[in-house]
Amino acid sequence: TSDINAVSIATPQILQHYPLCALYLQENLKLNSHLKYDGRQQLGLFLKGIGLNVDEALKFWSYEFTKSSKMNMDTFNKEYKYNIRHIYGLEGGRINYKPYDCATILLRKRPQKGEYHGCPYRDLSMDLVVSRLGDMGIKDQHDINGIIEDINKHDYTVACTRVFELRHKQQMDASKPENLHITHPNLYFDRSRQLER
Ligand code: SF4
Repeated sequence: TSDINAVSIATPQILQHYPLCALYLQENLKLNSHLKYDGRQQLGLFLKGIGLNVDEALKFWSYEFTKSSKMNMDTFNKEYKYNIRHIYGLEGGRINYKPYDCATILLRKRPQKGEYHGCPYRDLSMDLVVSRLGDMGIKDQHDINGIIEDINKHDYTVACTRVFELRHKQQMDASKPENLHITHPNLYFDRSRQLER
């Protein structure tokens, strides 16, 4: 049985394995008790990819959307339940949608004000990226400079891979370099969990 459920995905034990894009979306969902369409798609598909089933997804999204008094359950069910079920292929064309890879995320339309989808290494200001790196424990100036360099070259997945390597330095076997390249948010998550075991 999966340990991924509506409650566990809000715990540090699971969140520590998120890449910055998913972390940023889920934090802003929590903060605003809402996410616009593109954010719901990107995060909803990522969560499906880590093993959150549709019942747990509905629990999670309805809790987040209704926890402030801004929305009641009736409105959630009327306006958003379909969207979540659709992500799981249970509505409309019943397509089994796959979580977006980084290339898809970078090709889709950029986030506007009040939107949090996209790739934070591209879409956040450098100051915000550096402060997020600090939150993830990356504080060494040499490390930060390397990441800034990747971003300035528009090599966002290289920046993300470098972040992954820095955050998993202890677990990754230095004698066996693994040529890891993060090209998918779910690859980041899965590899991070594997290294924990
Ligand atoms: Fe997410 Fe990919 Fe950007 Fe990393 S490079 S933050 S996994 S979109």
